[in-house]
Amino acid sequence: MPDESYDVIVIGSGPGGLSTAALLQKRGLHCLLVEKNNLLGGKMISIDKDGYAYDLFPHGQVPMRGSAFEPIFEELGVRDEFVPALEPDDPRDIITLLYRRGDRQEYNRVLQGQAMTDPTPFFKLWDIGADDQAGTVRIMAEMAEMSEEELAKLDNVTMHEWLGERDCPSALYNYLGFHANASLAEPIDQVAASEQILIMQQMMLHGGGGQYKGGFGGLTAVMAREFEKNGGTLINNCRVEKIDIADGSVSGITTSEGKFTAPVVVSSAGIQPTILKLCGEEHFDKAYVNYIKGLVPGWAFTSIRYFLDKPVMDTAMYVMYSDDSWLDTERFEKIKDGSIPEEVLLFMVNHNFYDENAAPPGKQVLVSGTVCSSNPEAKEIEALWAKMDEQMQRFFPEIWEACERREYNGPKEIADLTRDSVIEGQGGECVGLAQIVGQCGSMKPDSNAPINGLYIAGGDAGSRGMGTHQSALSGTAVARMVQQYLRGRTKMR
Ligand SMILES: Cc1cc2nc3c(=O)[nH]c(=O)nc-3n(C[C@H](O)[C@H](O)[C@H](O)COP(=O)(O)OP(=O)(O)OC[C@H]3O[C@@H](n4cnc5c(N)ncnc54)[C@H](O)[C@@H]3O)c2cc1C
Repeated sequence: MPDESYDVIVIGSGPGGLSTAALLQKRGLHCLLVEKNNLLGGKMISIDKDGYAYDLFPHGQVPMRGSAFEPIFEELGVRDEFVPALEPDDPRDIITLLYRRGDRQEYNRVLQGQAMTDPTPFFKLWDIGADDQAGTVRIMAEMAEMSEEELAKLDNVTMHEWLGERDCPSALYNYLGFHANASLAEPIDQVAASEQILIMQQMMLHGGGGQYKGGFGGLTAVMAREFEKNGGTLINNCRVEKIDIADGSVSGITTSEGKFTAPVVVSSAGIQPTILKLCGEEHFDKAYVNYIKGLVPGWAFTSIRYFLDKPVMDTAMYVMYSDDSWLDTERFEKIKDGSIPEEVLLFMVNHNFYDENAAPPGKQVLVSGTVCSSNPEAKEIEALWAKMDEQMQRFFPEIWEACERREYNGPKEIADLTRDSVIEGQGGECVGLAQIVGQCGSMKPDSNAPINGLYIAGGDAGSRGMGTHQSALSGTAVARMVQQYLRGRTKMR
């Protein structure tokens, strides 16, 4: 039987919640971790079934060197178990890139290694002349060399605006339009330049597209094991129905398995579901509630998993985009209105490249995705799946012909698996709150919510960078805040 009373209760076992719980338990606090699903990991969940081991959604680690998970493993005493399945200086071809210029009919196809500092494969892919090559190098170098202070000044500048102040070659602009979709699930005309340039910097200097044997779930398994080994209580299959609040302070949670008490509750269930549903609007002033309701959720990915009956894929990732297929706000609105474009962008992860045991002998598994709305009720999802399959047949016939089974996912499945939908259009987002101007950097919601003892960990608060990385950073920061809060409380007594 679990205890009824704890120092800290953490809601959610994604990278945000699990890192907070594992660190606080290691530091000697008595913690309860509650997860509504049977399987742990939130959006970075991995499946280990029928001889296959893969992520439910297409994932790549950015940065590969200096990942936020590394110091967590270090502190947990399991540094040797932090083993990325790809080194930033791996000499092999890593990505198969397909790109079609707006003025061409055909796609160019190149193989690219890890060294994003060498733009030669891009120049070949884009088929651009010396002037545009020089312009590209200038802007890439400016991004790579930007200091923290310079980045911070770009929280309220969109990437589109930042590039507009420079003489940006159209091939580079189109690539960054694609990159905003693929790495942040945002449009270039809304994404904060500070966020996108940070991720570009990390990819250039510290490598992108990292993975782990067994998928990202390998990280979850180690952190959860250490949490329990250090005395933490983990209850899965248990939905938190309410965060209990008395006299302006949290007092615990009400769950499908009963009530538990603690002076601190850390929620990684999403800031909007946490404040509006689990706590309830009545506990906050109107201005804060309106602020929370006005926060914009990020976009989602539809995803198809292809199970192949023979090994046909060579590189770790397959990426396909054209000048017409990446989405800015206007193109996105057209899709939402039911007008599916001729082609969509594709971002696909071949788990077998990273892990020889990702599929039974002689087989392979590919996890693909394209951007879409985060609305669990979105009407366009089936048409996007059909478009993804159609492109697979046309451009990757060897993969399509080897396919013996497919699985389809979209924002509804993401929401069911992770966060509740509490405002219209929200629930299925890939990362969390949109990393757009007005809600990034200094304007990102604070992890410390305006109720004593309530903290928000994960993608929605207190951090920046790419999905899993920023959630683990946020979880690490929240662990420190909680300790400080509890120390302050003890002194007051
Ligand atoms: C399609 C897709 C592609 C992605 N690609 C990448 C990528 O390439 N690289 C990258 O770094 N990131 C990627 N991400 C994003 C990354 O997975 C997320 O940013 C990250 O997992 C968010 O972590 P989190 O801890 O904030 O929340 P989550 O992972 O969402 O975890 C929240 C947890 O809380 C639990 N929970 C919610 N409500 C309750 C409740 N009431 N009671 C109990 N438990 C509850 C949920 O079940 C869940 O387990 C992708 C995500 C998706 C969906």
